[in-house]
Amino acid sequence: MKVLVPVKRVLDYNVKPRVKADGTGVDLANVKMSMNPFDEIAVEEAIRLKEKGVATEIVVVSIGEQKAQETLRTALAMGADRAILVTAEDRVEPLGVAKILKAIADEEQPQLVILGKQAIDDDNNQTGQMLAGLLGWGQGTFASKVEVSGDSVTVTREVDGGLETDKFKLPAIVTTDLRLNEPRYASLPNIMKAKSKPLATKTAADYGVDVAPRVKTLKVVEPGKRQAGVKVADVDELVMKLKAMGIAK
Ligand code: AMP
Repeated sequence: MKVLVPVKRVLDYNVKPRVKADGTGVDLANVKMSMNPFDEIAVEEAIRLKEKGVATEIVVVSIGEQKAQETLRTALAMGADRAILVTAEDRVEPLGVAKILKAIADEEQPQLVILGKQAIDDDNNQTGQMLAGLLGWGQGTFASKVEVSGDSVTVTREVDGGLETDKFKLPAIVTTDLRLNEPRYASLPNIMKAKSKPLATKTAADYGVDVAPRVKTLKVVEPGKRQAGVKVADVDELVMKLKAMGIAK
């Protein structure tokens, strides 16, 4: 079975975001970019399915600027077989991404699409759900365990009260949570090998998708600065201060 894994190039999770002076967004000039961490987990899960003999081919897709090619090469070095880069000048909103992924799914006919639960740059948590809606497929979001057997997939999800286990008919959509697995690092020989794996370059127009933005971001601001703390001599003083602030009785 074929597995499709969409991977997004985002600001590296170790980098502290800086807001542009004009407040229109986060400054991405000269900062380290990496694969969205939840997408690394998605690639890892697809590779594990291939290692178990369940998946036969892993196709990774990225929608973004030309440099998203690096993200795709990382996924290929981890163990994906083939990549599709859909170039876009500007940021594509989740609806546009989902429409492009739907067109690719129609063409590629994967049995499973594994996405990250959210991209850590925009924190949308929308694309997987929208794609499931557009395709009319079942979806297991926030997966902490994925098991494929026959023509169905069983997904364990972390919910407030504990763990929920759901079963879906294939083809289906899965979105990854943090505890699903620990992604592998690409080895140097595999990084070299990935350079010769196939990577097709397309545009949204090739799939007949209009990616014009539907949302206008009005303002982006940095979080408020934390106030300096106060040192207290002992617990009695702490309780006294909390009482004075009306926090303790
Ligand atoms: P979001 O809905 O933006 O939080 O993203 C959820 C997931 O959708 C990500 O973890 C990726 O798997 C996928 N995704 C979102 N945007 C893109 C993109 N531009 N290219 C490839 N995959 C994407």
